[in-house]
Amino acid sequence: MARYTGSKCKYCRREGRKLFLKGDRCFSDRCAYERRPYPPGIHGQNRVKFTEYGIQLREKQKVKRIYGLDENQFRLFFKRAAGLKGNTGENLLFLLERRLDNVIYKLGFANSRQQARQSIKHSHFTINGTKVNIPSMLVDKGDEIAIKEKSRAMPSFIEAMQAVGRKEIPRWLSVDTTSFKGSVTDIPARTDIGVDIEERLIVELYSK
Ligand code: SF4
Repeated sequence: MARYTGSKCKYCRREGRKLFLKGDRCFSDRCAYERRPYPPGIHGQNRVKFTEYGIQLREKQKVKRIYGLDENQFRLFFKRAAGLKGNTGENLLFLLERRLDNVIYKLGFANSRQQARQSIKHSHFTINGTKVNIPSMLVDKGDEIAIKEKSRAMPSFIEAMQAVGRKEIPRWLSVDTTSFKGSVTDIPARTDIGVDIEERLIVELYSK
């Protein structure tokens, strides 16, 4: 299936909430959802009553869009989560949260997950001293993520280091600005995933 290349802001308007996909713009008055908080299209302002399936589908789409995955990638993560012990919905969120692109974003080394993915693909990071370039790889407790020495002079990383302290870092991560490093100090708990997701609906959708 062709990848959607239009405005990411339409995703927020479609899902009826801010998904924070465009970095600083999301916190400015240029946010499209703040200006038009209704779905895109000519019928966007009409009231829509969702079916049970529709509600489950919207929840899945919301999570997919937050983490920037396509359908195949999302299904693979779901399958992996279903194979783990415990609650499949929570396992899915834990896996998504531990993706390297998400962690780079949460550490404040990138303004958005999309920017994090690009930086990872350009090999600007190491994990425990080893160069990495796969955004979907999972981090573990104890991992140390560093901006490569050669990349530290890049304006985006200098700005990111200056912004640390102004942005909230999740409980399970820590940042050391002097060494351009971040650490995974714990594995995320459900309460650390600060978005209003009803993962149960996604499990119900895929169980049909
Ligand atoms: Fe969503 Fe607003 Fe960010 Fe656009 S600017 S991605 S509408 S939160």
